[in-house]
Amino acid sequence: MDLAQLLTSLDGRGYGDYKRIRGTHTLPLPGNSGDTALEVDRVQVDPFAPPSLMRVRVDRAQTGIPADLLADRAGRIAAGDFLTRSFSRAVSSRLGSGSTSSRRADRDTPPPIVIGSPGQQVLERTSVVFTDAEVEARITVALPAAGRRIKGRRAASLLCEELPQIVADALIAPLDLDALRAHVTLYRDQLDLREQLTARGLVSFVADGALLPRRSGDSDLPLTDGGVPFRSPDVLRTSFDLPSGRSVEGMGVPEGITVIIGGGYHGKSTLLRAIERGVYPHVAGDGREWVLTRPDAVSIRAEDGRSTASVDISPFINDLPSGADTRTFTTTNASGSTSQAANLIEAVEAGASALLIDEDTSATNFMIRDERMRRLIPAHREPITPFVDRVRALHDERGVSTVLVAGGSGAFFDVADHVIALDAYVPDDVTEQARAIAREEAPAGSDGRPHSQAQPHLQAQPHPSAQPLPQPHFAAAPRVPEAGSLRPADKRKFARARGRAAIQYGRDDIDLTAVLQLVDTAQTQAIAHALERLADSLDAHATLTDAVAAIDRMIAEGGLDALSPHTGHPGHLARPRPQEIAAAVNRYRGLRIRG
Ligand code: ADP
Ligand code: MG
Repeated sequence: MDLAQLLTSLDGRGYGDYKRIRGTHTLPLPGNSGDTALEVDRVQVDPFAPPSLMRVRVDRAQTGIPADLLADRAGRIAAGDFLTRSFSRAVSSRLGSGSTSSRRADRDTPPPIVIGSPGQQVLERTSVVFTDAEVEARITVALPAAGRRIKGRRAASLLCEELPQIVADALIAPLDLDALRAHVTLYRDQLDLREQLTARGLVSFVADGALLPRRSGDSDLPLTDGGVPFRSPDVLRTSFDLPSGRSVEGMGVPEGITVIIGGGYHGKSTLLRAIERGVYPHVAGDGREWVLTRPDAVSIRAEDGRSTASVDISPFINDLPSGADTRTFTTTNASGSTSQAANLIEAVEAGASALLIDEDTSATNFMIRDERMRRLIPAHREPITPFVDRVRALHDERGVSTVLVAGGSGAFFDVADHVIALDAYVPDDVTEQARAIAREEAPAGSDGRPHSQAQPHLQAQPHPSAQPLPQPHFAAAPRVPEAGSLRPADKRKFARARGRAAIQYGRDDIDLTAVLQLVDTAQTQAIAHALERLADSLDAHATLTDAVAAIDRMIAEGGLDALSPHTGHPGHLARPRPQEIAAAVNRYRGLRIRG
């Protein structure tokens, strides 16, 4: 009995009988174009459970994809992304965006077959993968039901007619191989550029002609009209030669401290947001395809209410009125300033070589303190040493650069290496003017960095020798989580993503709303699995950073599939950065640190 006959024979039976379709089936493709193998890995137990997991495979020869496009990991990632998008389009055009039976819910119900829906970023995914001989697409299928009974005839046409048509549309020659080659070539160029940044002493690159603004506050698509293309200030202009032979020109954001200023609504946050997203390559037509940022750059914001576990925020916060030790700051409810300090310290711990900070989402008292306030509240009554007084040490001691939007205060002029002013979305280098202003206003005898010199109580104690030894501010020891503290309290429920910004972890929820560089629910699901792995793998001595690095290595070596607890279909996962895995661990309210 073939699959179509089996499904038809199940019509009207209890839903649980669908489990009889588990296993491998051969389905003919339309138009004599060969066969596809359908592997049914997991069958949902009822119509309301998560959909069934299936894989379809075709021979690589049937796709016509030239071998050179799949010869390296970058090529396979980009080609997998391309085919995922084309599969998703084929599903929509064959099945519409909703179930055929209910017009009412068309907008809300997903189609019965889902392969994942990539956004503007090209990420490593589990949706479409390549072996030497085959291309495999991983799909979920909501098996059709009438109440709790099997709709066998509908299932037969879905799996045995519509699915092979979709496979043929999406994976079988004639594919648009020119478009595929362009997609792969762009991605390889983008990775190459991103890799060149560090050697060139740059944190980020924003090409001339890039279109940064988005269509709306809740859309990641490019603004359709009225967008002013980016244009680099002359002094920061640089160019890159790329493997395809292409070269791109634009603004290099140098290491060190870069401050973006300009009037309200002149495009500051939009520029910073593009730099923040530049850790990922974007698809052609996005407008940000030539905005690339070091892959470890982390966006930092205030996040009051979050928990922290033994974070050393003492570079910024000391002598809290509660008497809490800020070298091992632990709270269930951080304030604006303490949460921002913790976010920053954790990002540095997780290996960030650049921090991206916007005044719009910062705690003012964390960032600056003005002269009047310094006079009224003596330094020893103020627990906070503002970021402006530490940003230089962060760079000098730890090599961590900062790109900062500060339109409301000139306090950073003293410490900035570069000041970029946006005027009606057009950037200009105003470093010299800003320095001149800072010099004019500096108190007599100052070297032009009054704030960083104005904290005598925080300087090193006088040293017996003539030159006092400077005491490093950012010298925290890496944290070692208590083995077992990452196990969810309730083991019956596994970890799973609930949208982009939340993970259900046992009985707890981990809130990732403020983790802005997490861009895709499939990444969040991957992080959920990473947490389970960490819970099992933490031994008594691994630092958090090393444990996360081990997970990242496992993905690099074994592929993303290795993260999944399932054999066969791994679920729809996309690769997260180690920084976001660490961010999730740090926000887990059960986390305990040894010490
Ligand atoms: P700021 O942070 O300086 O107050 P935003 O970056 O929030 O300004 O931008 C203000 C508005 O201008 C937003 O609606 C944004 O989409 C739009 N915008 C930003 N850059 C451009 C641009 N290059 N061309 C057209 N509109 C832009
Ligand atoms: Mg802004």
